[in-house]
Amino acid sequence: MTAQSNIYPTAALQATDAAHHLHPFSDMKSLNEEGSRIITGAEGVWLQDSDGKRMMDGMAGLWCVQVGHGRKEIAEAVSRQMEELAYYNTFFKTTHPPAVALSEKLAQLAPDHMNRVFYCSSGSEANDTVFRMVRHYWDQIGQPAKKTIIGRWNGYHGSTLAGTSLGGMKAMHEQGDLPVPGVRHINQPYWFGEGGDLSPEEFGIKVARELETAIDQLGEDTVGAFIAEPIQGAGGVIIPPESYWPEIRRILSERNILFAADEVICGFGRLGTWFGSDYYGLKPDLMPIAKGLTSGYLPMGGVMVSDRVAEGLVDKGGEFYHGYTYSGHPVCAAAALASLDIIEREGLVDRVANDIGPYLRERWLKLNDHPLVGEARMTGLVGALELVPDKTNRHKTFPDTGTVGTICRDISFENGLVMRAVRDSMIISPPLVLSREEADFLIEAVVKTLDETHHA
Ligand SMILES: *Cc1c(COP(=O)(O)O)cnc(C)c1O
Repeated sequence: MTAQSNIYPTAALQATDAAHHLHPFSDMKSLNEEGSRIITGAEGVWLQDSDGKRMMDGMAGLWCVQVGHGRKEIAEAVSRQMEELAYYNTFFKTTHPPAVALSEKLAQLAPDHMNRVFYCSSGSEANDTVFRMVRHYWDQIGQPAKKTIIGRWNGYHGSTLAGTSLGGMKAMHEQGDLPVPGVRHINQPYWFGEGGDLSPEEFGIKVARELETAIDQLGEDTVGAFIAEPIQGAGGVIIPPESYWPEIRRILSERNILFAADEVICGFGRLGTWFGSDYYGLKPDLMPIAKGLTSGYLPMGGVMVSDRVAEGLVDKGGEFYHGYTYSGHPVCAAAALASLDIIEREGLVDRVANDIGPYLRERWLKLNDHPLVGEARMTGLVGALELVPDKTNRHKTFPDTGTVGTICRDISFENGLVMRAVRDSMIISPPLVLSREEADFLIEAVVKTLDETHHA
């Protein structure tokens, strides 16, 4: 990558951006005063900004760039597809070769009992689709009262009305009277922050049983589904205690409701398995996917469904009045196929499970010794550091939640590493192509950042 510091007029771009561009999840007043960072290029795990500064992309963009930046194979596949057939819809009895090939590929990669996919363009749309699909399924099989969907506090399922409602982000709910009716939330398996004096395993069982209680209170004949991320991403990389998923599985096996495993982050190798559902043995009925599906090269999402759900959606007949102009977009499908091909060819899933994953994790967990770190945790290539004022007391938090996290994130940028702050925890989710040398750089940058944050 060549230095491009002279080509981009940073201040002018920032001023124009401030005048006309409303950014997602941003305080636009303060962002406009500060000025946006302008990313101008990227290669592998490295980003470059308009001042010529190189930074490691510790977040794989936004949890999505599995195969790393700048992969020519994807650019070429996309370009070929654009020339051949840039767009056609999949409504009205039509399809096209890229959508056919991708559907077959996804069925092959997904758990055995999941063989069909409905396409959309994002994780949020995928969860809107889940919302409608669950209700349609129960209508189809003659149980229309099963409408309520149970989600979890601090879960994240996207930013549309249904995504925000299914998610459990209270700040998002407060902006606009959400959730919509028909959604209920139970507590998350966040032992470090909410486990009280219970052991992680006791706490895992306790919060899992809230599902059972919620189903009983609502009445099983009114509950359509439970939705959850295998590991919560945006909520702060919440890795559940080992007791949690088996207990949830037990409850789901006894109850007649659907389970939607939101694989938007955990899917496509992040945990060292193709899907988070494989990692935890979840056997979901629906799997919303997006992000790593195309490695972020083009927007695409989908919902994979089990053979059980297909019985309602397909075998029963009748039209599901749902779909998007860009469902199965040929160029996005070509990008997905090219990205999946790289993941397979380079054995990236196995690399996360057996090579770079354990390598980074061993070093990451050593950060537990740092005076600012209350807990370091990592599964596959996704991890968090809980920053605390007193590492001997898990229950003590910083007075103004988020302030230390933000300071730490800004210092990290200066040290050449993009980490994300969620409250006062630091998050990484690097591309799956991260090398050992790059992992060493990452750890060194984190240690330097923690030291400087500690003394700030
Ligand atoms: C990012 C995310 C979404 C939303 O995806 P978008 O493409 O941003 O709409 C949904 N679920 C999970 C788990 C996510 O991480």
